Amino acid sequence: MAYITLDFDAYKHNLEFLASKVGGAEKLMAVLKDNAYGHGLEQMSPLAAACGVKRAVVKDVNEAKKVADFFEKVLILIEANPQNALQDDKLVYACDDLDAISIFPKHTNIHLKVDTGMGRNGVLPSELEEAFLLIKKHELKLEGVFTHFYGADMSGEDFYVQMQTYQQAKKTCKKLAQKFAFQDLIFHSRNSAATLRIKDDFDDDFARVGIASYGYTDIPQSIGEYPLKKVLSLWAEKICTKSLKKGDVVGYGAVFRAKEDMVVSSYDLGYGDGLFRQDGQDNLCVSNGKKILGRMSMDCFSLQGNEQKVCVFDDAFSWAKKHKTISYEILTSLSPFLKRIVKPYATS
Ligand SMILES: *Cc1c(COP(=O)(O)O)cnc(C)c1O
Repeated sequence: MAYITLDFDAYKHNLEFLASKVGGAEKLMAVLKDNAYGHGLEQMSPLAAACGVKRAVVKDVNEAKKVADFFEKVLILIEANPQNALQDDKLVYACDDLDAISIFPKHTNIHLKVDTGMGRNGVLPSELEEAFLLIKKHELKLEGVFTHFYGADMSGEDFYVQMQTYQQAKKTCKKLAQKFAFQDLIFHSRNSAATLRIKDDFDDDFARVGIASYGYTDIPQSIGEYPLKKVLSLWAEKICTKSLKKGDVVGYGAVFRAKEDMVVSSYDLGYGDGLFRQDGQDNLCVSNGKKILGRMSMDCFSLQGNEQKVCVFDDAFSWAKKHKTISYEILTSLSPFLKRIVKPYATS
């Protein structure tokens, strides 16, 4: 059966490197949203905890419930119905606008998101005073304030400009915290790229690291190179082998036609497993360099030869490039039904 292997040593290595940027693993939030970027929430949560990470970031409350046992706090990024928010010491909800403040039930733990330039979720810096006032009035528990960078993996000014806006907003929040008597607010802003780019200027309480912890970054080499190791490898197993005669075809649409007699095998992964489909025209190869023959099917693809199992990829970046997308999309698309095996088995 097709499966995914997860390299615990690689994950640990990446988290240690990221921890060295912020002054310790306890200052990292492991971003485990979307099934831990396709790696598997269930498998990655205990590994993050074993590496000393105390906080996780997930997409929604369902994911939060799955990881809560492993962490001190879990930040939930999306709650489209704030009136349903749970009051639980461990769970913290991102609060994205002024309206949400009045909808969350009393005493809900929140982190207020500030939109410092991304133009997506978060209150504007000019709305901060009103936000603090409303939070007080509605008796929410404000535990922290955060923002998100839109261009931390880009060269150019954008990242620095947004960082300045954030620093300004942070100052404003600290003043407002005094005025409205909120104690011990925590601040976080950096995603993976912004964390990798720390020189010695880390002055937040936490950094939220996703993609880099899994071994990837889109930061151009002109900005920096980082010693990250890929955590996930995708494997397929042979279904059957057959001998083709010259002129025989493989797969839908007869896109591949044998130019000579050959041996081919089919393997048990396809686009139904979240593997991006290919139409047989674009020379998509598995990790040993063998070309996928013809079109990929829903549950299988074919290769020349008869190996028992093949590594489809151990670096999603190469597949992302072929499909004109980013490694995030290749990884998060992997079916949650695929078996995931941690190697070596975590001992703690
Ligand atoms: C996804 C996400 C992150 C992690 O981003 P990476 O680039 O994967 O490190 C951090 N913060 C927020 C708010 C996110 O949505």
